[in-house]
Amino acid sequence: MASPIVNRGSPLSYSSVRAYLECPLRWKYLYIDRLPEAPRGYFSFGRVIHSVLEEAVRPLVVPSVRKTPSGRSQLTLEDFRAGEAKRAASEPRAVGETEAVLEMYRRAWVSDGYTSPEEETRYKRLGEEILTGYWETVRASPPTPVAIEEHLEATWDGIPVHGYVDRVDRTPTGGLDVVDYKTSREISRTEAKESDQLALYQVLVQENFSDPVEGLTLYHLRSLTPLRTSPRAPPVLEELHGRVAVVRDGIRAAEYPPTPGRQCPRCDFRSICPEFKEVPDGDRERLALLVDRFRELRERELALSGELEATASELHKAAEDLGLHRIPGTKDVAIRRREESWRYDAYRVGQVLAEHGLSARVDRSDSEAVRKLAKDPEVPAAAREAIASAGSRRTRWYWELER
Ligand code: SF4
Repeated sequence: MASPIVNRGSPLSYSSVRAYLECPLRWKYLYIDRLPEAPRGYFSFGRVIHSVLEEAVRPLVVPSVRKTPSGRSQLTLEDFRAGEAKRAASEPRAVGETEAVLEMYRRAWVSDGYTSPEEETRYKRLGEEILTGYWETVRASPPTPVAIEEHLEATWDGIPVHGYVDRVDRTPTGGLDVVDYKTSREISRTEAKESDQLALYQVLVQENFSDPVEGLTLYHLRSLTPLRTSPRAPPVLEELHGRVAVVRDGIRAAEYPPTPGRQCPRCDFRSICPEFKEVPDGDRERLALLVDRFRELRERELALSGELEATASELHKAAEDLGLHRIPGTKDVAIRRREESWRYDAYRVGQVLAEHGLSARVDRSDSEAVRKLAKDPEVPAAAREAIASAGSRRTRWYWELER
């Protein structure tokens, strides 16, 4: 699948953000180098179903009021259309026959990426079942779309974003419901509630339409289940904005480190990825021996560290029972030492520092600096007490040998 041309200031889509967060190097291969990915049957299938639903549902669209670039609602003609749209929600509309939708499906079918004729036939049948079932639900209760497969763009707190939104529906109360179709096997309600894709679409619709977003729906086509969730609250959107900003900053700085993970087995770029570069033939044997030796030493190290720990704790127990700190052996004396350290809850410390105007004094995640501040007599006693209560002391005993 060819990826869109992207330069470092291009608007970010949901899939682009997800790809970068998963592996920046794969993102670069896709969006900067524009390397093609191998076609896959389930992608072809998803695209065909989406295109048929677009064609079939488009006649039902009644446009809605849009925002102008200045953020204000358009007047006159668009207002008229909005009124028309709200009226249309309660009016019966002509919905095509199921056979017409299946005919669109046959015309739209693309055979790319299926691993065998049997697989293609299985998907074809699945598509017929999905569309037949789905279209029955549409005929029984026609949706009230104001937009279908629409490309929306926005500048979200300084970051250009964009996306193709499957459908935006008018709700009975005059608001908008953002709908995203899914052809995947299973989707849970939690996935719908936590979907970043829906959250980004919410932002795009909010920025482009005048009416409020009242719902976000992942429509699971295989089970004909609309998983409707509430619009995301501001803190959730802020958190997503933070992640989008990380991607924007990474792309601006041209940071594309390979980041291996669960996605690697499905990645089409393994053969060129430095993370999976093959050992040259001439070095293979020598390096294999080194790896084996390393493994052997690591196993011995693990066995020894377990034994060392058990011996130290037996000595510790004897020292506790007998009240000792020094235990002579035949060659050395084992001396028991104590080490103390403090750990602080950075969030709570941050709050205390802010409350007492001390934020500039110390980095709240630097435990040692925070501990010193908690003992500084120049710091008000109440602040010192509050900082101390955000920390916990850890004591570690260890043994040293002396001749
Ligand atoms: S193989 Fe893994 S680490 Fe390499 S580019 Fe692909 S996803 Fe990234």
